[in-house]
Amino acid sequence: SRFEDMKLPAPILKYLKSKGILKPSPIQTQGIPTALQGRDIIGVAQTGSGKTLAFTLPAIMASLEMEARLPFVRGEGPVAMVICPSRELARQTYEGCVAMCKVLAEKGEYPEIRSLLCMGGINMADQSEVLNRGVHIVIATPGRLMDMLEKKKLNLENCKYMCFDEADRMVDMGFEEDVRTIMSFFSHQRQTLLFSATMPQKIRDFAQASLIEPVLINV
Ligand code: AMP
Repeated sequence: SRFEDMKLPAPILKYLKSKGILKPSPIQTQGIPTALQGRDIIGVAQTGSGKTLAFTLPAIMASLEMEARLPFVRGEGPVAMVICPSRELARQTYEGCVAMCKVLAEKGEYPEIRSLLCMGGINMADQSEVLNRGVHIVIATPGRLMDMLEKKKLNLENCKYMCFDEADRMVDMGFEEDVRTIMSFFSHQRQTLLFSATMPQKIRDFAQASLIEPVLINV
């Protein structure tokens, strides 16, 4: 399989090449087309599998689709959210995502896709410009995201894509209750992806309750 066959924008293909990402890894081969079809996914994958690209690329594609229908001008969003168990992971994911959105918008061929890093230690006032203009992709740790939802700094009206990364670590760190609260802010069905290195019963239960006919990808 090839990235070229995944209906991705040319600037993204060029960017991946420039990063030495030439051939999709197994989680990408299975995950990207499945996610682009709108299916829910349970991805059993370790760090180093290339899972981050497997869930950020579809988040960007969902944002481009939304921009084509409803250009964000003021306070809208997000289209997609990625929840990570640690600040370090959230930052890495955010940086990779921003780099791809940057190459997309560079030549004006594609609209600007705005991302927001939402976690403790970040002064959200500094990010209010992105929030005011409308944010497409929120990458967050659970506590801060819950806080922002409770304070109505974010609304999930347009959110159609939700991804949990390293779900087993999220459980280990005691984020279950926060995640439940976050999910309660959805008043509609959305596409849900869950990535985890291991599948303890708690995560199976959560998937059973929150995902619809998920495709299981075990790499
Ligand atoms: P991840 O498992 O998402 O944390 O990715 C681990 C590392 O592999 C990152 O530094 C990526 O840039 C790199 N990577 C992701 N996908 C590929 C690929 N298909 N080929 C080569 N490297 C990749």
